[in-house]
Amino acid sequence: MKTLVRGKYVITDAAARETGIIEDGAVLVEGKYVRATGRFAELRQLHPEAAVVGDGQQLVLPGLIDAHSHGRGLSPLQKGVPNDFLENNLFDWAFMPVLDPELITALCAVRHIRNGSTLIHNNAFDTTGSGAADQAATTIKAYLATGIRLAYSPGVRNIDRLVLDTDGFLATLSAELRAVAEPLARTDSKLIEEEYFALFAELYRTYQSEDTRIFLSPSWAQACTAEFLIRAKEEADRLGKIPIHMHCLQTPVQKAFSLRKYGKTAIAYLADLGLLDENTVLAHSIWVTQEDIRLMAEHNVAVTSHPSCNLGMRNGITPVYELLRQGIRVAVGMDDKTINDDEDIIMELRMMHKLHRVPGYRLDTPVLDAFTVLEMATGHAASVVGFAGKAGALRPGMLADLIVVDLDRMLNSPWMSDQTGIADIFIHRALGTDVASVIIGGRLVMEDRKITTLDEEALYREVRKAADKGITSAMRRQAETLQQLKPYCQSWYNTWLEPEQHAFYQVNSRR
Ligand SMILES: [Zn+2]
Repeated sequence: MKTLVRGKYVITDAAARETGIIEDGAVLVEGKYVRATGRFAELRQLHPEAAVVGDGQQLVLPGLIDAHSHGRGLSPLQKGVPNDFLENNLFDWAFMPVLDPELITALCAVRHIRNGSTLIHNNAFDTTGSGAADQAATTIKAYLATGIRLAYSPGVRNIDRLVLDTDGFLATLSAELRAVAEPLARTDSKLIEEEYFALFAELYRTYQSEDTRIFLSPSWAQACTAEFLIRAKEEADRLGKIPIHMHCLQTPVQKAFSLRKYGKTAIAYLADLGLLDENTVLAHSIWVTQEDIRLMAEHNVAVTSHPSCNLGMRNGITPVYELLRQGIRVAVGMDDKTINDDEDIIMELRMMHKLHRVPGYRLDTPVLDAFTVLEMATGHAASVVGFAGKAGALRPGMLADLIVVDLDRMLNSPWMSDQTGIADIFIHRALGTDVASVIIGGRLVMEDRKITTLDEEALYREVRKAADKGITSAMRRQAETLQQLKPYCQSWYNTWLEPEQHAFYQVNSRR
């Protein structure tokens, strides 16, 4: 079956910039692949039998990619927990209701598709314990049923889950509180490691394919043993350098931890372990030093940046412009916490664009542009989630993942100069709600804003019913216990931090 996806503009590849744009263009899709791109009139003549999607007045572009999500469907805020410092939220999240993985995954996928994401990387969090394998399999199957393309990484921390430096923290507590905290803080790190690699092997064997990627995630660089990290790297390399995805330097506490524990930065520590490589992806990477960035560039690691999450969680601002300047691939992730709390990846690109148009003193400083930002959700994002050269652009032979976006509001409300390029118009003015149709692997997953793979209204009803139940009294007791420990954790960390940090961005000046 052949389909011509037609647009007033087709952006085939953000990396090709203006030369990648075809006016009055079309993408010929055959089966699950892109077969050709070109002028609509010419392709139509060659393929008169092809079905047509798009009215010729829209924008067609590669499907956008969320390179870092935890697949929560409902955000923490929607589940009653406001965003705060990560270290505080780790205690607070216990108050969130837990919904069935089928339900939450379908919701997450629908929210992504509606706003123009065709591929999600679900980084599972603490995939461990007896139910972990079933839960992971259920989640993966639920994604695939919605039609979204999936990259899935089971993730665990095998030490220091409650606080960093467990022993030091426990020593600050009274005997009574230590008895409460100890069972929560101690882990059997070897058991978690063994269970993790068995689970990963099973998922990889079952689901890794041309259409779906499974890769590794020692969840936090700071909360895994060196043995675990090295084993993950060896396993990833053995499987052909599949990605390893790690949270790293999200907070100043994590930065201080590495300096205390290893006497060097987390990046220098990872480099010494042999973890820094082209298949290593570091999520957040906010509290990196100039020397860290040099090391990251030297080893060709990649970064996912989640600007709204970073603002919401008071993490700080990733020096994205500097990372890019040094040739580091940066992909966008939403991390379940977007500016409008709706998983709109287009808004997240706009946030990225605005946040990293770095202020400064020299008027001839170059600036982040729309194509570079678009690459963060297409080419770069595809490469960090294991789809380099397969997704993230519309070239013959690549997977047919593309979106059709209405331009009427952007161009005619009430007027737009034809001097402004379409990539700029998209990055400055588009919204997720402008996405009209979504094609993933050649399949029309959303047509004229109607999801074709499931009953969206029924799903929303189910989610409301499940979330209304709230949490059990046992879960509430556990959550309240954690709250008791929280102020002690805060005092513990507060002793670690330097009074003054050296900022990358000078955003204002007192004198
Ligand atoms: Zn995350």
